[in-house]
Amino acid sequence: MCGIIGYVGAREAGPILLEGLRRLEYRGYDSAGLSIISSEGRLCTVKEAGKLAQLERVLEEGMPPGTCGIAHTRWATHGAPNRENAHPHWSRGRDIALVHNGIFENASVLRSMLIDLGYAFETETDSEAVVHLIDEAFKDNSSLEDAVVAALDQVVGAYGIAVVSSRDPGKIVVARKGSPLLIGIGKNGENLVGSDASAVI
Ligand code: GLU
Repeated sequence: MCGIIGYVGAREAGPILLEGLRRLEYRGYDSAGLSIISSEGRLCTVKEAGKLAQLERVLEEGMPPGTCGIAHTRWATHGAPNRENAHPHWSRGRDIALVHNGIFENASVLRSMLIDLGYAFETETDSEAVVHLIDEAFKDNSSLEDAVVAALDQVVGAYGIAVVSSRDPGKIVVARKGSPLLIGIGKNGENLVGSDASAVI
């Protein structure tokens, strides 16, 4: 179980997320990544296997712009510690991104059900099933929070999750069960979320 950090406010999210990931580094992890929504509503995800330095190297070539984003350091429980399995995970339309700490115990049942519904899986993780569940739940729900609630009704397990979507931009939806996640209220209407106080402070 590793780390989550999220930022929504008036400042550029990228440098804040990266600093949060640096502060989570002491926990140990096998990959890291982030997703940021730009002001034009484009969701951009960058993730890399290995140390944070690997991700930083890629981000030096261009940090995705935007003031709302989520980031993750992974400690693999389902699937190899490689780039594909690194978080965030995205929906088939690339318009929802999710980071997850913990284990979804009924992931294989959900995976089979979603494959029957026509979803293709790009990773071996338990987490990816939930981003597709949220995608599916958007058919009956117009807000990201309602779609996340509907998706989480179907999962069993321990989790801390943070989700962003270009279909409902400018917000981070978070949920937790048996896994730590705290909300930090910043300055001028900005908010942070973190799995660890050190990342938020
Ligand atoms: N179960 C998820 C995975 O294997 C999350 C692991 C974590 O908490 O970092 O990708």
